[in-house]
Amino acid sequence: MNSWIFQAKPERYDVQGYVSEFKKIYWSVGHVKHAQSISLGDEVFIWKAYGNPRDFAGVIAHGFIVEPPTEKQKILLPQNLGDNYWRGGGFEKSTVKVGVSLDDVRPTLATGALRRERLDADDILSKSQIIKVRNGTIFFLKPEQAVRLKELWSKPEYLEDVIPEEKEPKNPFWNREELLLALELYIQNRKSPPNKSSKEVESLSKELNQLRACIGGPGAKSLRNTAGVYLKMMNFRSYDPFYISQGKVGMRHGNKLEPAIWNEFFGKENELFKACRAIREALKELPEYSSDDSEDDGFSEAAEGRLLTRLHKLRERSVKLVNAKKNWAEKQFGTLTCEACGFDFAKVYGKRGHGFIECHHRKPVHELGDGHKTTTEDLALLCANCHRMIHRQRPWLSVEELKSALC
Ligand SMILES: [Zn+2]
Ligand SMILES: [Zn+2]
Repeated sequence: MNSWIFQAKPERYDVQGYVSEFKKIYWSVGHVKHAQSISLGDEVFIWKAYGNPRDFAGVIAHGFIVEPPTEKQKILLPQNLGDNYWRGGGFEKSTVKVGVSLDDVRPTLATGALRRERLDADDILSKSQIIKVRNGTIFFLKPEQAVRLKELWSKPEYLEDVIPEEKEPKNPFWNREELLLALELYIQNRKSPPNKSSKEVESLSKELNQLRACIGGPGAKSLRNTAGVYLKMMNFRSYDPFYISQGKVGMRHGNKLEPAIWNEFFGKENELFKACRAIREALKELPEYSSDDSEDDGFSEAAEGRLLTRLHKLRERSVKLVNAKKNWAEKQFGTLTCEACGFDFAKVYGKRGHGFIECHHRKPVHELGDGHKTTTEDLALLCANCHRMIHRQRPWLSVEELKSALC
C-alpha cells in the first residue's frame, strides 16, 4: 500500500467545501506515472495550500482509494465530482479520476486540521516533497513519512479558526522618517558616533517613540529603545566610504530602505537636515494619533512618509486659514472656483454648493519644516475631484502639474 498527499490551492478550488459535502470524493490524476502507481486501498491525505489572504496550509482530510484511476465518463458517482467548487474561472484539465473515501474530515483549524508548521518542525516530514517542492497536486509519501504523518494527524491540536493578521514583527520595521533621524545622528558624528548610553542616543530614542505615537500602528510607545536606536545608527556605518576605506566592515542587518536612504542623502547633508527639520516640525505640531483619524480619504501617503502626510492634511484643513482664504477669494473674484479645472460648486449645485471648495497646501511636503507659518498664500483652492487627483498617487502633483495633465 502506498500513501499520497493530494493538494489543492484554495484560490482555484474550494477543497474545504468539497470535503465537507461528500464522503466520497474524486481527484484528478494528470500524470500517467501517477495513474499507473495509485491503486485500490492506498492511503490519501488531502492537503489545502495557503489561501489568499494567507490563512493556513495543511492536511484537512484523510481517506483511502476506493476507485482506481478511471476515465471521467466511467466513474461510479459522477454527482460527486464537485465541479461547482472551482473558483476564479478554474476548470478541470485532466480526464482521469481516482475515487477517495474519506474517513476523517477536519477542514478548519478549529476542527483539528494539521498545520504545515508541524511538518516543517518534524525531522522526517520536513524532507517530504509537499514541504520541499510545494507545487503540484499529487505527492508520493515515503513509508516512514507516511507513518509519521499519520501519527501527527492522530494527535490534532484544536486551534481557533482565525485568519492571522498580516504578520509584522513585534518591532515594526523602521520607516523612512525614523531612518532619516538615525542617519542624521550618524552623519553628525561620523568620526566618533555616540555610544549606547549617551545623551544623544537617548534623546533620539525619545523622539522616535514620540514619532511612533504620532503615526499610530502596532507597537508600544517605548518601542525604540536606546540599544535598538544605537544599532540602527551604526548600521549606516557599513555604507560609509570613510569607514569602509579603513578596511573595516560595519554591521549590516538592515532592511532595503537603509541603503536607499544612504544613497539618497549621502553627500547632501543639507537635504537631510531639512528633511529632519520637517519631521521635527510635524512632531511639534501634530496631535497623537488616534484610531478615529480617518486615513481612508483617497490620499496616498506622500513619498516623504506618513508623518508629513498628516502634517500636510492638518495644515490645509485649518478652519481659520481655510475660511480666511475663501473670504479673500470671494472678495477678490466674487466666486470660489477650482484653480485647476475652474469648477464652481455654486454654479453646478446652486444654493447647496455655495461657499464650498477645498484647500490644498501648495508647499512640497519636505519643505514644511522651514519654520514658515502657513498663510493663505500657501493654499490653493481646489474642487474635491482635483484635490483627490493630486493626492491619489505618489509623488503628489503640484497644482500646475495637475492642470497641465487635465485632458
Ligand atoms: Zn477641479
Ligand atoms: Zn492637499
